[in-house]
Amino acid sequence: MPLTLTGARRRLSPVKRSLAPRVRSARQRVGEAIGGPPRAHYGTRPSKAEAKPAAQPGYTTRPPDSYLAMCAVCGRFSRFVRDGLSVRETFPCTECGASHRYRHQAEVMLAHLSRQGSANLDELAAEQEFAAKAIFEPGWLGPFRPRFSPLPGYVTSGFWPDVEPGETRDGVRCENLEALTFDDETFDLIITSDIFEHVRHPERGFAETFRVLRPGGLHIFSVPVRWPLAHTTRPRVDVSGPEDVLLLDAEYHYGSLVYNDFGYDLVDQLEAAGFHALLPRAINDTVTVVARRPDA
Ligand SMILES: [Zn+2]
Repeated sequence: MPLTLTGARRRLSPVKRSLAPRVRSARQRVGEAIGGPPRAHYGTRPSKAEAKPAAQPGYTTRPPDSYLAMCAVCGRFSRFVRDGLSVRETFPCTECGASHRYRHQAEVMLAHLSRQGSANLDELAAEQEFAAKAIFEPGWLGPFRPRFSPLPGYVTSGFWPDVEPGETRDGVRCENLEALTFDDETFDLIITSDIFEHVRHPERGFAETFRVLRPGGLHIFSVPVRWPLAHTTRPRVDVSGPEDVLLLDAEYHYGSLVYNDFGYDLVDQLEAAGFHALLPRAINDTVTVVARRPDA
């Protein structure tokens, strides 16, 4: 292989170099914590440099404009180049298109799900134990689907108000995350990527993902956050009545209203649903959450 790691490492920015050991450490700690004490959870506190006031709204650091890394989704080693304001939505992989947040979520999935040291999701999907899992990934978007949809236990869903939940439209099952139609203990793994900020009553959604997971099953998900992560979740909408009442300016992603800006208490919400919850790593505005249904 002509590319030497020494050369690649030299070209990494100081910021990226400083992050590398922290990532390994977080992975190790998470590996130890799974199945450990019920309230164990981790978040990486910002360094002094990261905690400086934002130069642009929503950002606490100015990350490098590009960095070299291995894509945890497809395995391609390349330079990820910032192509927009957001950190989490940019730095796309030149091979599979996965943005920073998807690659981060993929790293967390590998840390928790690979039994054979897979370095990317293609390798993970080829692991016999993983390929036998029952997996639920609601929604339409993202680079995980083409890798997992060939697996026999993979299920996706959409939501249409005019379709009965549990019925299909164009071959896709309609599901409301607050009231799933699956039987109890159906899945080993649930993946959601930037979906739960759009769930009107997320506590009902988490209760449902808990219900349909088998004991020991994982719900691994991303939600958009501001960094440093707030201590408490900020509701954007009053949902106490039948109609939505805006508390803040309406924010939409792909036409879907955002109900909550989640904070650290997301872990408490998950534990209230019965999960053992971890924030394995939070850097800039990228966080992935691992919620594990305890063994029976
Ligand atoms: Zn990729």
